[in-house]
Amino acid sequence: MISRWPITPSMKSFKILMFILSMLLFPLMAIADWLREDATIMGTAINVELWHENSVQGWALIQEVMDEMQRIDALMSTYKPDSELSRVNAGAAAGPVTVSKELLALIKHALEFSDITHGAFDITYASAGQHYDYRKGRRPDSNQLAEVLPAINYHHVRLDPVNSTVQFLQPGVRIDLGGIAKGYAVDRSIVMLLSAGVRNALVSAGGDTRVIGRHWGHPWKVGIRDPRNRDGIVSMIPLEDAAISTSGDYERFFEQNGVRYHHILNPGTGVSPREVHSTSIIGSNATDTDALSTSVFVMGVEKGLKLVNSLPETEAIIIDDRGRMHYSDGLARVAQ
Ligand code: ADP
Ligand code: MG
Repeated sequence: MISRWPITPSMKSFKILMFILSMLLFPLMAIADWLREDATIMGTAINVELWHENSVQGWALIQEVMDEMQRIDALMSTYKPDSELSRVNAGAAAGPVTVSKELLALIKHALEFSDITHGAFDITYASAGQHYDYRKGRRPDSNQLAEVLPAINYHHVRLDPVNSTVQFLQPGVRIDLGGIAKGYAVDRSIVMLLSAGVRNALVSAGGDTRVIGRHWGHPWKVGIRDPRNRDGIVSMIPLEDAAISTSGDYERFFEQNGVRYHHILNPGTGVSPREVHSTSIIGSNATDTDALSTSVFVMGVEKGLKLVNSLPETEAIIIDDRGRMHYSDGLARVAQ
């Protein structure tokens, strides 16, 4: 009998091979596993780690996290001239610029941190910050600083929530969300993973990390770096369903005549604070720990700890300019 679709011996063995392969691969593709992916997005190291019952679905979720980081970068980067934030910086001194509800909400949140830190956290720091180039070792001289300092004041930023617009009340104002956007991106990712049913995960973007659940049955452990030794860790912090952010003077900096100029600026002077070398904040979400780690860096040990001790569910570890560690009340109790 001649079959209408003759199967030649080679096709037959090919089909058998495919069948065996699929039997071998299928369970491999669907197994429960710890998955981990690293990338560079928003000019920083992104790390996602999670446990998923189905590794195929787990990898898809990791891809979603990376896509979300890219989306936020495209919205808020000051390095991308076509980002929404760059459009604000280019046009808001001339009149109200319409922005997405999302950008408006994050700017609003940043301004709330300006209020509670009495201006230590101030996204208009960028009015002076734009004149620094840490890679080229360039900084504004004292004349240039004196000229731009009046533009640093978060009260110059006017938001209209009804029309969703941002306006600058003075020329020369620039804003930059570098002190809060990475924490926000981490939070967005964690919320997405939670709603997808993930129960054990870590997402970090540079110095901002948030975890869900545990890692191999133990709390996640996040290291605090020794600010003066690239490979040294001064403390390992166990975390479950919490966030931690570290700000340091060792991330982006250059030195001139023994003075370190780094990427965190005191909005009052337009120059980097030197009282501390690093600040770590532990809290419930990464947007707030991110903004607070930058804030406490500017405020210094005494004022910074006072602020942290007044906030619920928030702790701090500060390393000062002599390498001494200072703890907020909740951690000092545990450390004793
Ligand atoms: P990293 O960007 O390394 O995670 P931080 O979270 O401490 O470190 O944020 C530092 C960034 O915050 C700077 O690169 C800058 O974009 C922004 N920034 C610097 N000084 C201030 C300030 N006084 N208020 C708000 N943002 C600031
Ligand atoms: Mg920060």
